[in-house]
Amino acid sequence: MSETSPKPTIAMDDLMALCKRRGFIYQASEIYGGIQGFWDYGPLGAQLKKNLRDAWWQDVVMNPCQGMAGPDGNPVRIVPVDTCIIQNPKVWEASGHVAGFNDPMVDCRESKARYRADHLMCLGEKGDTSGQIYAYVDNDDKSYATARKKLDKYKKRALSDAEIDTCPLTSLSADELKVTVGPDASEAGTLTEPRAFNLMFDTYPGPIRDEANKAYLRPETAQGIFINFKNVIDTTRVKVPFGIAQTGKAFRNEVTPRNFTFRSREFEQMEVEFFCHPSEAKDWYAFWRDWRMSWWKSLGLAGDNLILREHDKDELAHYAKEGAGTSDVEYRFPFTAPRFGELEGIAHRSNFDLKAHQNHPASTVKLEYFDQERNERYLPDCIEPSAGLDRGVLASLCEAYTPDESRPSKVFMKFHPRLAPIKAAVFPLVNKDGMPEVGEKLAADLRKRFGHLGAIEFDPKQNIGKRYARMDEAGCPFCFTIDGDSLTDQTVTVRERDTLAQERVSLDRAAAYVAEKLGLG
Ligand code: ATP
Repeated sequence: MSETSPKPTIAMDDLMALCKRRGFIYQASEIYGGIQGFWDYGPLGAQLKKNLRDAWWQDVVMNPCQGMAGPDGNPVRIVPVDTCIIQNPKVWEASGHVAGFNDPMVDCRESKARYRADHLMCLGEKGDTSGQIYAYVDNDDKSYATARKKLDKYKKRALSDAEIDTCPLTSLSADELKVTVGPDASEAGTLTEPRAFNLMFDTYPGPIRDEANKAYLRPETAQGIFINFKNVIDTTRVKVPFGIAQTGKAFRNEVTPRNFTFRSREFEQMEVEFFCHPSEAKDWYAFWRDWRMSWWKSLGLAGDNLILREHDKDELAHYAKEGAGTSDVEYRFPFTAPRFGELEGIAHRSNFDLKAHQNHPASTVKLEYFDQERNERYLPDCIEPSAGLDRGVLASLCEAYTPDESRPSKVFMKFHPRLAPIKAAVFPLVNKDGMPEVGEKLAADLRKRFGHLGAIEFDPKQNIGKRYARMDEAGCPFCFTIDGDSLTDQTVTVRERDTLAQERVSLDRAAAYVAEKLGLG
């Protein structure tokens, strides 16, 4: 797809059906009717997710920034950690999550539905409490249209755009709220006033379930890094500037989980906390922001569907107010189109977190760093590139989904070869005449060579068209077919997923062919 022609928007229902049909993603607890906000990954999804996590681990942690020098001209240094999901609850007091990790929530008394007040917008003449005001769910054109239709009906005429004022529900007065109608309600005044709702899941380690024993499932992986800052400094040879990275599960009791895996209650993050001298924070922020954008592009999320968006001053989080800035890498998901949804946030957090942990009355260590080169003791500033693994997988699925009427499958998944969960397939044309044996040997050879990168499928049954169709939907980039000639001249046909080109390669060159196409030389 060229840079200038945006991919046509795909139907989310079609993608979700393919994800189910081919075993990418299932509803969690499906046999019991599911559980809202939780998703399981099937065989292909598990490998796709691992490939994206591995790509991040390799390009961010093991070969930091793919070998690119930082703004100081030196190689970027990053070390990994793997910290617990449950920590001492004081961690979350210090970080501000216990007091402040809230979303404003409203309930509809009529429909019993619950909404995030900042996701609802009011449609109507603001300030005119004699007029009826309608609420619709942000980023959802259908509910906007429904709300508008209701408003037209109330006024008994079609309202022009100019007559309609939209404002977030959170900014309404108590009087105005009385005339606000929930998206699924028929009566006005059914929405409650917004209330703060804490997003953390609590749990009770040990045998006693009381307040004194309350702990939390982490809502982000970042704090596990901050609380180990001194351990890492003391036990390795890292020097500021350097980063600490980790991937892992995070849990948020989202008020309205929706849009497939985009907003889930259990999800995985890939985060770096990059520590630097405050005077260099601006340069490191710009460096990380630009490099993270180029990384997502390198995995095939290119063109008009990906943008880098710098936050406005009034959007900034409390820790970022005085900092160098915050930006998001955003993808145009089918359910946000024509708008975009966040894949990764890159934030200058100043020294907010280290300071909070150092200053908490129960904390036992000083987190200041002694910089030998500068002969200075200080709390480093922090740049945080924080990516969502599940959102990355979802964007990769959306981007890969390519309708093609000329194929039996009518659609194929054009994954970047690095992400493809099945790297190659081997098909004996018929399941006899020595072909399966040749195929099995080739598949075993390919597994030995590429098994750490993805699956090698061996499938001797069904007609060849059906087998190709299944691999197209799985996004397998190369299918090798063993036929009668293979037995005599030791060659196979390889079919390339995207171009459908077929060429003959010798059996003993098949692995080299895949390696070359995967960019492994
Ligand atoms: P949003 O505004 O969409 O709720 P956020 O700004 O709260 O996201 P961060 O706290 O910056 O998100 O988390 C970093 C990354 O973690 C996000 O960019 C996103 O990819 C991922 N993430 C956050 N919340 C969820 C969720 N509920 N489900 C899936 N991924 C999430």
